[in-house]
This record gives sequence, structure tokens and C-alpha cells, in this order.
Amino acid sequence: MIDLWRKHFVLSENMLEMECTNLTPEVVLKTSGHVERFTDLMVKDPKTQECFRADKLLEDAIDDLLEKNPTFDTATKEEHLRVQRQADAYSPEELDRLLVTYECLSPSGEPFSQAFPFNLMFKTSIGPEGNSVGYLRPETAQGLFVNFRRLLELNAQKMPFAAAQIGLGFRNEIAPRSGLLRVREFCMAEIEHFVNPDDKSHPNFASIKDKKLLLFGADDQLGSGKTKTLSVGEAVSTGLVNNETLGYFMARTQLYMEKIGMDPKRLRYRQHLATEMAHYAADCWDLEIKSSYGWVECVGHADRACYDLDVHAKATNTSMVATMKYETPVEIEVAKLKFNRKLIGMVFKKDARAVSTALDALAEDWKDFEPIAKALDADGKTSIDGFEVTKDMVSWAQTKKKVHEAKFTPSVIEPSFGMGRILYSLLEHSFYQRDMDEQRCVMRFNPRVAPQKCAVLPISSGPEFNVVVDEIAASLMDYDLATRVDKSTAALGRRYARSDEIGVPFAITVDFDTLSDDSVTIRERDSMVQIRLPKKDVHSVIFDIVHGRITWESCTEKYPVVQVDEGEDGDNSAPAAPKETPSKAKTVVVKTSRGSFSRPADGN
Ligand code: AMP
Repeated sequence: MIDLWRKHFVLSENMLEMECTNLTPEVVLKTSGHVERFTDLMVKDPKTQECFRADKLLEDAIDDLLEKNPTFDTATKEEHLRVQRQADAYSPEELDRLLVTYECLSPSGEPFSQAFPFNLMFKTSIGPEGNSVGYLRPETAQGLFVNFRRLLELNAQKMPFAAAQIGLGFRNEIAPRSGLLRVREFCMAEIEHFVNPDDKSHPNFASIKDKKLLLFGADDQLGSGKTKTLSVGEAVSTGLVNNETLGYFMARTQLYMEKIGMDPKRLRYRQHLATEMAHYAADCWDLEIKSSYGWVECVGHADRACYDLDVHAKATNTSMVATMKYETPVEIEVAKLKFNRKLIGMVFKKDARAVSTALDALAEDWKDFEPIAKALDADGKTSIDGFEVTKDMVSWAQTKKKVHEAKFTPSVIEPSFGMGRILYSLLEHSFYQRDMDEQRCVMRFNPRVAPQKCAVLPISSGPEFNVVVDEIAASLMDYDLATRVDKSTAALGRRYARSDEIGVPFAITVDFDTLSDDSVTIRERDSMVQIRLPKKDVHSVIFDIVHGRITWESCTEKYPVVQVDEGEDGDNSAPAAPKETPSKAKTVVVKTSRGSFSRPADGN
């Protein structure tokens, strides 16, 4: 999955990729706002002091209420569901009130304590004296933001561009549960796409604009409660999705999910409610995947505006801007400044440079400097980034300047994938039981993501078979195709069933014919159809299917097909095993582009 993610996003879109540290100095996370605000609301059982996530208690209480009252009319039910959908967006006071309304009691039967924020980051001390505070990163994104200048330089200053990172995130979840869905350490794959805030178009938007997505907009969550299917093009042009780049990534995420084999009917995009979104965010859409745990957020898509780069630039006193070249120079109004450096130095000492840099930045556009000029004229002083600047420190003149380029702090559009949640959902979407026998469980992993691509099985345990099996397995491994060899003595049908159960898409069988004509069969897991082909073709056929270059269907056109009834107990080995075949095996005549091909059960 991760390999395919890297190909689908990083390589095919020429993104940069970085691997930053897990251990993050406090200053970075103070600057980003995580130290103050990366919290969940928690309540305590007043008797036992046990802690619970307040929003989850509310969600569970509403589930219980609806289950106990199946006769609620639609409007009442919808009203409760609306409250439930907003559970993680309420303030502590609102949650306190709702827990009382929904009669939530602690395990010891008491009302819960008042809701209070709990910071989800793991704190640690760095260095031998331990006086420097650090945190395990709660997301990978911050590492990319603090390296923005390096990334831009590596991209030859060209905008827009994206950087990606795959790595662990750590969150001290109050109640880890539901397998991989809520854990304290999980693999994240994040993209930070840096774009001009005045132009959030995407150069490849046309390639995905017709892709249809199931959308659950904020208005529909608070109103009809219904989703709608729209093409990304429509969603962006009607303003439902804020901009092309955000829509582009939502569509690319959908394509990735389909590529790895997720059921498209169980994917939807839910927009954050205004109360859920950070104040600086322009728009956010979560990809939610349906599993037995309901709809679960698996990928966040957020337009974080210029917030991150702005705060890091300010805190480090470093310019984090990008440049856009104009085709023809543009005349703009600026302020020409003259500093009284001696006075500024005396008053601000080590901060003197920060003050003059801040003034210079404002002076680049008269619209930004005008309020400062007015305040200095009227009051003789003004505050800039918390410093009190007086009129005797700077003089100015309003003037015009021809510019060839514009400088701006890029906006950031961030798709953030939780790989564990995606993996868990994929396991659920891949599981099925064969119609003929529900004991026979299958994982229908797409060959591209199946952890093992093939099983190689000898029909019999004789050494002459094992030599060929080992030879085929080695040639597959040589092509980086993870292969499992099953030389056990179980019946062939049982061995097929075992590899179906762990989602191996192809089984290659070495049988009696192999010894005489160097041909083998490949059985495809879901259809159970087999083709017979020369042994020497096997690795390239499997390689091409796994890499999406050819399809299994095209192989059934190219090579003779043998369809085998594997029997109810799965104990069947024909026709791949002519000499050892139990007579109950059936042979199916299959039409191929090369004409009809039929193989009797005795294999002759
Ligand atoms: P967030 O930054 O909260 O939007 O999280 C980004 C992604 O990380 C989510 O969409 C989830 O897929 C995943 N995620 C967040 N918290 C957890 C967790 N405790 N366990 C597993 N995955 C998580």
C-alpha cells in the first residue's frame, strides 16, 4: 500500500519526499499551536477517576438511544443524528450540557465530571540535563513546514509544488480501541502542497474533473442528512469544494483507494462543519470509509491557508515566502523607509533586526504600510509584532515601484492519510466467503497490494516436482514478487483454499505435465479459473499483472483456459494433476480467441 502510495502521489506528480525526526523540539510545536490546542475533551468518573473521551460517550449514548427507540419518527431520529455528527465539534460547556441531556452516567452510576482538555502529545526531555522539552510528533507535517525554504530551493524556487512524508505519528489517545482504528502510534502519509493563495488552480485538474465523488457537505449534515454524488468539476465550480487543488487531491485519493481495491460504494467525503475547522482553515474534507465500525475518517484533506508558514516564519524570524514572476512588469505603490538604526538598536537590542525586517515587509505594499503610517502620524507610536515602534525610529515616503515578481506566503493544501485505518478498512472490504461454501473464506486483495503475489504448489511431494517448484519460486523472487511455497501434503484444493484465505491472488501448480512439457497452470483466486502456459512465461505474466500492465482477462485470451470445479471440500486437483486427479473433477470447455479449448478430466 505504501509503495503504491509513493508511486501514485510522490513519483507520478514529481513531489519531493523527506524523512524528518520523530522527536520534535517544543518550540516547533508551540509555534504550530499543538502545545496549546492539540487536545481532546475528556471527562472523569468522579468515583474511580477513570477518564473517557466526552465526544465518544455522547456518540455512544445516541447510538443506544436510537437502538432502544426504533419507532422514533424520521425528524426526531435525524435531530439526534445531527447532534451525533457534531460530537467532536462541541465546546466543553456544550458537551457537559449534552451528556446531561442524554443521561450519560459513569460506570459507577454518577454524572461525569466537567469536560476538560487533554493534550494528546507524548512529552519527553532531551539531552543529558533533560532541561530541553521535546514531543513525539503528533503528525509528520511540521517537519516539512520548518524545512520549507530547503524544499523550495530544491524545487528551484518553482511554485506550486508538493512535498510528502511517510512516517510515524504519535498521539496519547485516551481510549485506544477498534484494532488499528485508534492507536497511539500509527503510520501517516502526508502531502503538503504549497500554492499561491491567490491562485489555487491545479495544472492537472482537467485530468480528474469528471471523477464522481460521494459528498456530504456541511449544509447537508446540518440539514437533509443526505449525501450527493457530484463530479469534482461540479463540486468546485459550484463552490461546494473551495478550490481546484483541494478537489484535485480528493479525486486522487479516491483513485488511490480504488487502485488498492477499496469498495467505492463505501467511500464518502465529509466536509468539516464550521465549528470543527481550525479558524485559519479555508475548507476541509475527510475521506470516510465504511466498515463494521461505521463511517471512519481515514484521510483528511485540509486547506490550511498560510497559517503554518506564517507562524514558523514569525517565530524563527525567517522569511518563508515564494516568488511568482510576472509576464510583464507591474507598477505597485510601496513605502520607502529610512530607519534611525541607532535608536532602534538601543531600544530593541537583539530584536532590532526583527523589528526592521517586519517594517520592511510591510513597506513592500503601501496598502499594508498605510495603517502603520497613519498610527505613527496620529499617535506617535504603534505596535508591530508586539514591539512598540515610535515615530522617531522610522520615516517614510509613499512611492511607486516597478516589480517583476510578487512575493507571497504560500497556502498549504494537505492530504493526510492514516495508513493503519486504510489497511483495516481494506481488510474488511476484501473479505468474502465463497458462495459454494461459506467455510471457504477469501481475501480478495488486489494483486498490486497483496502481501504475497503467488503461491507455488507441487501436485505431489516427489523430488522431481520440488526442483521445479523451487526454480519457479526463485524466478518470481528475482522479479521482487513475494512468493509462498506450499509443499505440504494436504490435497491441492485445500492448499488453494489456504492461500485464498490470506489473499494470495495467484497459485502456480507444478503437475505431471510440467515434467514432460515444461508447462504449468496459474489459478486466479477469485474466479478459480486456470490457464496453462509455459513455465518460462510465469514470472513475466505475474509481474505484468501485479504492475497493472496487463489484466488477468487478457491472459485468459492468450493462454488456454481450464476451469476447474474445486469441489465443496476444496479437495480437488484436476485438471492440473492428470495422473492423480480424482474422477469427480469436471472439465469446462472455454472459448478463447484461439478457438475452443477443452481438457478432459483425465488430463489426456
Ligand atoms: P488528523 O491529523 O487528526 O486529521 O489525522 C490524520 C489521519 O491520521 C486521520 O485521517 C486518520 O486516518 C489517522 N489517525 C488519526 N488518529 C489516529 C489514531 N489514533 N490511530 C490511527 N490512525 C489515526
